[in-house]
Amino acid sequence: MSEPSTPARTRVAPSPTGDPHVGTAFMALFDLAWARKTGGAFVLRVEDTDRKRLVEGSEQQIYDGLAWLGLQPDEGPHLGGDFGPYRQSERLDTYRPFVDQLVADGHAYYCWCTAERLAGLRKEQEAQKQSVTGYDRLCLGKTREERAALPGFSEKPVVRMLIPDDVELEFADIIRGTVKAPRPDDQVILKTDGFPTYHMAVVVDDHLMGINTVVRGEEWISSTPKHILLYDWLGWERPAFAHMPLLRNTDKSKISKRKNPAARLMWFKENGYLPEAVRNFLQLLGYAGDEENEVKSFDDFVADFSWGKVNTVGPIFDLKKLDWLNGYYIRSLSADELADRILEFTADAWSPTPGQQDTLRRAVPIIQERLVLLKDALPQLDFLFVADDELTVEEAAVAGLADTAADVLDAAISVTESVPFEADAIQAALRERIVEGMGIKPKFAFAPIRVAVSGRKVSPPLFESMELLGRESSLARLRALRASL
Ligand code: GLU
Repeated sequence: MSEPSTPARTRVAPSPTGDPHVGTAFMALFDLAWARKTGGAFVLRVEDTDRKRLVEGSEQQIYDGLAWLGLQPDEGPHLGGDFGPYRQSERLDTYRPFVDQLVADGHAYYCWCTAERLAGLRKEQEAQKQSVTGYDRLCLGKTREERAALPGFSEKPVVRMLIPDDVELEFADIIRGTVKAPRPDDQVILKTDGFPTYHMAVVVDDHLMGINTVVRGEEWISSTPKHILLYDWLGWERPAFAHMPLLRNTDKSKISKRKNPAARLMWFKENGYLPEAVRNFLQLLGYAGDEENEVKSFDDFVADFSWGKVNTVGPIFDLKKLDWLNGYYIRSLSADELADRILEFTADAWSPTPGQQDTLRRAVPIIQERLVLLKDALPQLDFLFVADDELTVEEAAVAGLADTAADVLDAAISVTESVPFEADAIQAALRERIVEGMGIKPKFAFAPIRVAVSGRKVSPPLFESMELLGRESSLARLRALRASL
């Protein structure tokens, strides 16, 4: 399939029905890449016609989530643009004339069947295991009066598409080549409340907004023949379609917010992932076989972008890979940048004094190498932010110390009193006195000091931690543990 060379207008069209799904960001990434690659534009349209499912705040979360990932649209409800309004609820007057036109042209018809009649019909078809299921066209060709004389009549009609016998079921997909979809039913395009269904609104809006490349999840493949009919009936040029694979859990099931917390876009932010790592991770999910080039900026992704590379086998959402990428991006930051990110991440829960901020900045280099998630930073460093007499010393850590702990602490106190207070010198002096001088193995030599200084069995590098704490605090903590033994 050749790729369009005209500037692409792409769009993502989420419904604000709850926390944004990571799939929205996945689509947005590919939308934006293609728009940038072709010098086009990426549009955000909010599909909010299903009023019952709307969730307050959800639309804002979509804006925030995309902005956080650096996948900012060029046009949208919050940004404006020449093709607005970008919220479907503000476009309701737009759809009706096109529905009327389809009815007038004989491509669509009114249907007055009640929900009960339709449910009964479905049951019957299932019981008889009929090969052709769906609406039986009872209303087709009837006037309101004719239909009203029959059972199962409702005052408020819907409008249905009249799917022709020779409906094209194959279409060209720019990722998948020729795709075949099942024969559609006479799809409802206008509901009893006068609102268009998704199928009608998506075609009208994509056309009026100049969208020439529709990127969406593969679950919409079966809807595409209906959309193509609508384009043709309305005399509009069909867009190119790109149906992206569905993201999958490691057990290959479809990723859903109910089963996998990571299906929520905000989960990544809440858990201390860096947006650049998440974006990079999503890039990898779409592409197969780029193992040598896993770390890639968005600009490089755009430069190499090709639909032909998209992997149609549902990519596995492997958080181990994401953790690895997050660690990589954390190590790529300068210590100051990482401190900024940690401060930003903790801003809601922690208001450090200027002195604590300064300590954090000095402490970041000792955790940077091994840090995987921003949320782990403060818990690792919290012993630096408490007063010496408020340090919590884990009981289990004390209980696990060897019999030599008291002697070790006495020696450590005496070293700490006089050594030049800098990590390398502290280490050399403690080693000389305790490991070499007292013949105690390093494991037992340093454990009591670590517990005294950090309150824990596991801590960031010990000698650097002592240097950060300073001589007075280190001494106070060593003495306190010694006194408690
Ligand atoms: N509103 C639809 C959704 O939430 C958009 C589908 C499409 O992109 O055409 O998935």
